[in-house]
Order: sequence, then structure tokens, then C-alpha cells
Amino acid sequence: MDFEFTEEQRIFREAIKNFAENEIGPLVEEAEETEVYPVEIIPKAGKLGFLCVRYPEKYGAAGTDKLTENIYIEELMRVCSGIGSGLLVQSSLGTSMILEHGTEEQKQEYLVPAIKGERISAFGLTEPNAGSDAASIQTTAVKDGDSYVINGRKIFITNGSIAYTHRG
Ligand SMILES: Cc1cc2nc3c(=O)[nH]c(=O)nc-3n(C[C@H](O)[C@H](O)[C@H](O)COP(=O)(O)OP(=O)(O)OC[C@H]3O[C@@H](n4cnc5c(N)ncnc54)[C@H](O)[C@@H]3O)c2cc1C
Repeated sequence: MDFEFTEEQRIFREAIKNFAENEIGPLVEEAEETEVYPVEIIPKAGKLGFLCVRYPEKYGAAGTDKLTENIYIEELMRVCSGIGSGLLVQSSLGTSMILEHGTEEQKQEYLVPAIKGERISAFGLTEPNAGSDAASIQTTAVKDGDSYVINGRKIFITNGSIAYTHRG
């Protein structure tokens, strides 16, 4: 069995390594000091094709294999796991439901801009009284005409404080 990376995977590693070191690296100290997430990194990553890397090319993503996605995660987290987590939530938890279960219209409305970094996503499971035990959550979503009224409280949501930002 060949355990070597392919040429494509090596080139990808070099590219994401450069991005992490040169674009994320200089932001780490200020982000740690101020405890403010440098939100501008999300559209920057999107423009370079460094969001949702394993998603299909037809939605504007790179369509990589699983191993390449792991190279992506490793290189981001090596430089900063905090800033990296925001990019990873955007690339997985916050968008995978739409990819797997969304209608084509929802994919065009939410997924395609998220892959470009123009919309920021989050995944809100954890609650003060339930933790991440999905069976005990208390938040409700009640249908009201064409929309839903959502009531409840969430905590520890990565990207939760920046997910409203629309960078269209
Ligand atoms: C940096 C960070 C980012 C996060 N981002 C998100 C996010 O984007 N979205 C989101 O929804 N949540 C997020 N979370 C929340 C995170 O998913 C939960 O905090 C985590 O899953 C643990 O759940 P909990 O806090 O309910 O702990 P608990 O489930 O209360 O667990 C506490 C401890 O008890 C143990 N335990 C729990 N139940 C049992 C049992 N039945 N038997 C034996 N042992 C048990 C656990 O193993 C653990 O050691 C984030 C948390 C952090 C720290």
C-alpha cells in the first residue's frame, strides 16, 4: 500500500500551509488579547478556495478527497486552533446540513455564499440546561405561516457571535 501523498495533495498542503502561516499567523496575537474573532479571515479564505474544501465543485468548492481535507485541518490547527475552528465550522457543522438535506434553492441561497465566505454559518446545539445532549434541548421552532419562530438559549456556539454578518 502506498502511504505517500499524491502530487496534488503535496501542492495543496503547501498552499494551505502558506495561507495559515501568512494570513492567519499575524492575526493570532491580537485575537488572543482582544478575544475578538478576526472575521475578515473567512471571506479571505473563501476567495482562495479554502472553505468547505471537500464539498462538490458544482457549488464552487474544491471537491477534494477526505485525506486532503485532513491536511487542510492539520495545517490550520497547527497555526491557531481558535481561528481555525471558525473556518472548520464554516466548512462542516455549519453548512453540511444544507449540503446533505437542503433544497437546491436553499443551497444556492446559503451554501454557495458560505463557500465563498460571503455568509457565515454556525451550528447551534449546546444549551445551558441540556449541554450537547440533543434529546434534552429546550429550544422550540414553531411554524408561523411561511417562517418559523425560534425560542430558546444557546451557549458555546462557534461563529455564533459573527454568523449574522452578511458579506454579499
Ligand atoms: C471551543 C468550543 C467550541 C464549541 N462549539 C460549539 C458549537 O459550534 N456548537 C455547539 O452546539 N456546541 C459547541 N460547543 C459545545 C460542546 O459541543 C459541548 O460543550 C461538549 O459537547 C460537551 O457537552 P457539555 O458541555 O454538555 O458537557 P456534558 O455533556 O455535560 O459532559 C460533561 C462531562 O460529563 C461526561 N458525561 C456526560 N454525559 C455522560 C453520561 N451519560 N455518562 C457518563 N459521562 C457523561 C462527559 O464525557 C464529560 O466529561 C463548543 C465547546 C467548546 C469548548
